[in-house]
Amino acid sequence: QAKTSGRNRWNFFDNAINEATQEHIALEAALHDALDSAQLRLYYQPQIDLRDGSLHGFEALTRWYHPKLGHVPPTLFIRIAENCGLIDRIGIWSITEACQQLQRWRSAGVHIPSISVNLSPNSLHDAALPTKIGQILWNENLSPQDLILEITENVLLDNHPDTLRTLDAIHRLGIRLALDDFGTGYSSLGYLRRLPVCAIKLDKSYVHGMDTDITLQALTRAILHIGDSMQLPVVAEGIETTSHLAQLAELGYHIGQGYLFSHPLPAHAVPSWIEINTPWIS
Ligand code: C2E
Ligand code: MG
Ligand code: MG
Ligand code: MG
Repeated sequence: QAKTSGRNRWNFFDNAINEATQEHIALEAALHDALDSAQLRLYYQPQIDLRDGSLHGFEALTRWYHPKLGHVPPTLFIRIAENCGLIDRIGIWSITEACQQLQRWRSAGVHIPSISVNLSPNSLHDAALPTKIGQILWNENLSPQDLILEITENVLLDNHPDTLRTLDAIHRLGIRLALDDFGTGYSSLGYLRRLPVCAIKLDKSYVHGMDTDITLQALTRAILHIGDSMQLPVVAEGIETTSHLAQLAELGYHIGQGYLFSHPLPAHAVPSWIEINTPWIS
């Protein structure tokens, strides 16, 4: 009896593992095609200065709509890309695309102070990355201050010696770095001091838990103090309700982002969104 159920269990796991692997292999191949056939798109979510409602900038977020699979979540395909080595191409693609788009908006008279692009910590192993990014900015006639690169705090776990060197080189170019998903992983404040970051992004789990969890509320306050004491602005993400907004503004948060302001938008929807919604009046 026990033996059979044991064997069945193994069969079950075996199948599950095979399925997962095969699914990953299929997605990997599909992701290759997606890059080659322009299935990836950037969507743009506004970041608002909470003090005066002005536009701080936009964060670019990658979307993949596969003709058969439909919408594939970024957390899934980014992880696959990191595992199969496609992440470097995605990184360069998204920075290029975002910079081209920013230049198109500027040429059309749409003023956007800066654009943030997410960059996987894995991409930082490429020592040539800073030069490549500099070239993209040059090609698009943009200055380094136009671009902000968001890197998850997992970068702190990466002890690869190239990582810090690449971050420093990017920083020396004048490109700002923001530490994304702050408060979710292992953040050592000692490391934070050594990283050339210009902003911290408070993870949305804090904002969402703040209403009901007094500890999260205290930590949300504490993280702002950390930012203040290091002279780093803290961006609050995941602002969904006017109550979130009011609490964060009350705490003294300067920059916010979330569905309350807007979901990530396709590029064509951005100019009219700015026209109608900025300055943001709550
Ligand atoms: P992230 O960089 O922390 O981006 C914030 C995520 O929160 C986005 O999810 C965004 O759509 C979502 N979001 C924004 N406002 C709200 C809100 O008010 N409530 C809630 N519940 N969610 C909100 P998305 O687009 O699914 O991206 C997930 C993650 O995937 C990103 O987290 C980022 O780490 C990664 N990612 C997305 N695009 C790229 C990319 O081009 N390159 C890399 N390396 N990673 C990317
Ligand atoms: Mg981000
Ligand atoms: Mg984030
Ligand atoms: Mg996140």
